[in-house]
Amino acid sequence: MYKEIINFIRDLYNTADIIPLHAPCFKGNEERYVFDTIRSTFVSSVGNYVNEFEKRIAEYTGARFAIATVNGTSALHIALLLTGVRKGDEVITQPLTFVATCNAIKYCGAEPVFVDISLKTLGMSPISLEKFLDKCAEMRDGHAYNKITGRRLKACVPMHTFGHPVEIDRIVELCKEYNIDVVEDAAESLGSFYKNKHTGTFGKFGILSFNGNKIITTGGGGMILTNDEELARRAKHLTTTAKVPHPYEYFHDEIGYNYRMPNINAALGVAQLEKIEEFVEIKRQIAQEYNEFFKKIDIKFFVEPDNSRSNYWLNAIILGDEKQRDEFLEVTNRYGIQTRPAWTLMYKLPMYKNCFRVSTPNAEYIEGRLVNIPSGVVCEQKA
Ligand SMILES: *Cc1c(COP(=O)(O)O)cnc(C)c1O
Repeated sequence: MYKEIINFIRDLYNTADIIPLHAPCFKGNEERYVFDTIRSTFVSSVGNYVNEFEKRIAEYTGARFAIATVNGTSALHIALLLTGVRKGDEVITQPLTFVATCNAIKYCGAEPVFVDISLKTLGMSPISLEKFLDKCAEMRDGHAYNKITGRRLKACVPMHTFGHPVEIDRIVELCKEYNIDVVEDAAESLGSFYKNKHTGTFGKFGILSFNGNKIITTGGGGMILTNDEELARRAKHLTTTAKVPHPYEYFHDEIGYNYRMPNINAALGVAQLEKIEEFVEIKRQIAQEYNEFFKKIDIKFFVEPDNSRSNYWLNAIILGDEKQRDEFLEVTNRYGIQTRPAWTLMYKLPMYKNCFRVSTPNAEYIEGRLVNIPSGVVCEQKA
């Protein structure tokens, strides 16, 4: 069986070399635009490309405003701060996520709280969220509090796992009943739509990442999405050291952050974004081929949830048990096919082991069985 799988993936990517999980694809205007910033000397946080990149991301996602940052983690940090998350608050999220989600919550002095994931989306389960709120939340002075810990429930951060949209409309609706703000971690889901609306545009904020392993990259980079003009202005201000604009004077009116994306990175982003629809199409084609192949050999391939168009950022299969998973990982990696298990669940990491959580059987089930397989765009690079 392994021989068949390895040959299939080798044929798909048409190479005898190591096949990475997800490599970037540079075959458009990347070199031209980056070289342009070097010639102009505007490589740092002021320049046309960073403004242009924000404009084009806003257009593409349908968000009214987009603010570029140095990475997705800093975008999440600022979004949570501007949501009003403060020391001692709780922020609801999912245990199956990349560690940045929880770290950004902690940067605000708040505590993550974990609800289960859905087996249909691999993201936050509205059913588990509803159960948690029913059982644990009470309203006081217009704010929700966790009855058991006494902490204020300020925000909720669902994550669109591997690019697959969560049932975000249900989650937003539930949170609204409790006056809890939704910040979408859409780091993995640029190009993914739920009910024809781009992920990251349903909550008060959404954030994107352009790390080297994401669907498009700026080397390192992130974006804050919002429809609120005042919050967008605040986000730009906080990410640019809270400097009051002036031709030569340096006056900062609060403690800001040096979080603005440099122009040279944005140049890469503008070129990459020109290819996003092509990339999504190729990735969806790869997913379809995987789906047909794995059906034949009776392995479960994860397909996009209902009502969504997923970017299929990382393809995933679900094996029978942990032993099968470990064997799959061992054999494929030995033969130069990069595969990896799901992230260790957040409450199993030393920093988050004491966080409040409800029972999370779906997250446990997936953690023990899921394997990500090579998912990058098949890329005929320019010579
Ligand atoms: C990539 C990622 C981020 C942000 O990562 P950066 O490396 O800081 O850009 C945040 N959350 C999730 C779920 C991610 O996958």
